[in-house]
Amino acid sequence: MTGNAKQYDAIIIGSGFGGLYALYHLRDKMGLNVRAFDGAGGVGGTWWYNRYPGARVDAPSSPFYAYTFSQELVDDWEWKETQTVGPDVLAYLEHFADRFDLLKDIQFETWITDARYDEAAQRWTIETDAGETATAQFLICAVGALFVANKPDYPGIDDFAGVSFHTGRWPHEKVSFAGKRVGVIGTGSSGIQSIPEIAKGAAHVTVFQRTPQYALPARNRPISKEELSRYREDWDDLRMSMRRRGGWPFKTNRRRASDYAPEQRQAVYEELWEEGGIHLSINSYVGVMSDKELNDEVSEFVRGKIREIVRDPETARKLMPDYHFGTKRLILDNGYFETYNRDNVSLVDLREDPIEKFTHASVCTKHGEHPIDMLVLATGFDAVSGSMLNLNPKGRGGVSLKEKWERRFDNYLGATIAGFPNMFMIHGPGAPGVFFAMPLGGELTTAFIGDCIKHIHDKNLGAVEATIDAETSWDREINEIANRTLYPRTNSWYMGANIPGKPRQFLGHLRGSHYFDRLSEVAAGGYEGFVFEPVREEVTS
Ligand code: NAP
Repeated sequence: MTGNAKQYDAIIIGSGFGGLYALYHLRDKMGLNVRAFDGAGGVGGTWWYNRYPGARVDAPSSPFYAYTFSQELVDDWEWKETQTVGPDVLAYLEHFADRFDLLKDIQFETWITDARYDEAAQRWTIETDAGETATAQFLICAVGALFVANKPDYPGIDDFAGVSFHTGRWPHEKVSFAGKRVGVIGTGSSGIQSIPEIAKGAAHVTVFQRTPQYALPARNRPISKEELSRYREDWDDLRMSMRRRGGWPFKTNRRRASDYAPEQRQAVYEELWEEGGIHLSINSYVGVMSDKELNDEVSEFVRGKIREIVRDPETARKLMPDYHFGTKRLILDNGYFETYNRDNVSLVDLREDPIEKFTHASVCTKHGEHPIDMLVLATGFDAVSGSMLNLNPKGRGGVSLKEKWERRFDNYLGATIAGFPNMFMIHGPGAPGVFFAMPLGGELTTAFIGDCIKHIHDKNLGAVEATIDAETSWDREINEIANRTLYPRTNSWYMGANIPGKPRQFLGHLRGSHYFDRLSEVAAGGYEGFVFEPVREEVTS
């Protein structure tokens, strides 16, 4: 079967931030023969698909939600705003692909229908939906942490005859809401970013909310040329700070809440709310994400802000979040709560008034019928594990990832899986993912993967594989870190709780800088937790 197959050193699946960098690193820095595949029609991953109105960077500032490794790249890209719009991020990634001549090694509009490890050959074989076959010693899965769309299965939803979009599969053509009654289900980052924009054009927007959210004002602003110049001059230091400080180059405040009087703490919260962005969560007092009392205080502060902004007390009541502040992904908003002061926006609280069914022209809840012309599903993703399961590689003995991960997403270092030799993940379960600057996280993970591949080549080895014991202790380590915080107490996609039937497991690593130290230590210490196989006879003969 592999007779006509094209042969590579490494195959990369995905050409978003992670996959593009992996292609650059393995091909240009290591000289490997690499091919990347992507089902999309162009580069960008998340930013290729998430074209909904209002999509913006929700990181502290755009220049740091970008590759860090190349001073030239930093010098030649002009970030315009702190929370830059989605099309600009996509343009940046297209520029990156162009500048480093990556396109010639990416095959677009090609889905991988099978990925299978051949134990005798110590290689991966992939098949595409175009009927092609290719093999490589290494398979790099850069399939995206937020890719598999979660679509609710309400009775009759497929009978809805109006236009319907998922925010994560937004069409490339401009969508007009003019004169339309739009129903939006979901109030996570995508819903909260898009609702204010949709409301500006639509005749009416009905928001169907299951869980009210804490959202902090993004305070998006233009980035001046002087500011960009400063970043460029200090780039090496900033990059080091990002690496050391959990992904962002900002000093966080180390003050203890108990050293301050309640009025002083409120004044600090006010100041940080005005500053905007994630400052309220990272810069107030130590322990906001682990000390319940302190977290309650910050939660109440944000609820107070929502009450101040939203004029109708009944709507404000429905918008009150009651989980621990920050334990779902913190959302940076651009006028979200203010949108409820518009006459053309109404809110349905699904906890009091659940959706019962759809008709061809309306959403029927327990207490009413809501006629709509358009439906926007801002209902999120089968996050982190979902895209790996969608690929469903078959490892040693033909065992599929779906079998291996039936009850738990076992992995080692968030990058490898026992039973799946020579396969690596970027932003897999157990990696910091969204808890760190993802572009830099991808660079650092790829450096680890590259070093491991180099180790294999230098020592003339055939395969590398994580051990089950390493997976077990890694799982313990991840959970110990998570259990010291309030995160596991909340039903969030971090816990897999947004997908019915999905195993509950904390899907990230909360201490990104520590995580990347661990990767370096593992590499420097001779790859503890991995076994290496010599090159098999039949491969060399
Ligand atoms: P999300 O955070 O998972 O939010 C999905 C929303 O849909 C939640 O409000 C959820 O309610 C609701 N929902 C899900 N299933 C539902 C159902 N059957 N009925 C009613 N409501 C339902 O998804 P997202 O907003 O797409 O964001 C996902 C992640 O993508 C974010 O957390 C963030 O990491 C990333 N993101 C980043 C950006 C950026 O600017 N960089 C933008 C968008 C997204 P519950 O809360 O009750 O589950």
